[in-house]
Amino acid sequence: MGDGRYIKHMAFAVKDAKAAVKTYQDFLGVATNVKIDDFPKSRNRVAQFWVGDVEYQLCQSLDDDGRFAKWIKERGYEGLHHICYAVPNIDEALADAQAKGATLKECSACKVKGSHVHPEGWVAFLEQEAGGIEIEMMQVYTAEELEQYKKVKGI
Ligand SMILES: [Zn+2]
Repeated sequence: MGDGRYIKHMAFAVKDAKAAVKTYQDFLGVATNVKIDDFPKSRNRVAQFWVGDVEYQLCQSLDDDGRFAKWIKERGYEGLHHICYAVPNIDEALADAQAKGATLKECSACKVKGSHVHPEGWVAFLEQEAGGIEIEMMQVYTAEELEQYKKVKGI
């Protein structure tokens, strides 16, 4: 967008992350050694890979009432669940959006509304969708901020 914003990741709700990634490998040249991790806190299994500069996350709930399972159940199909936009300053980006009527949505993993720490940066979600797609914003940590996050978390 020329103002320091870019797509950090696109997250897709899928029923089976391992099965879903195969299409990308067979048809789109995605490497066969894609990282598929289980996240105990959010109860998700995520296949993560890049197409060009864009990070894809194929997200499978590990529980029937999980965030992505519920999304699929409500709509009846798998699909693009949210886009995470990297912003230069999340407090400013949220203030701008809120001044125009945006409201904050609770992070389903952390049960927190508004900007809060995640492994890669400060994130926040909006109640409003853009073209039917949930909006996540992230101020990605600098190298120093990432070190600080790891120190606080003991990792
Ligand atoms: Zn969170």
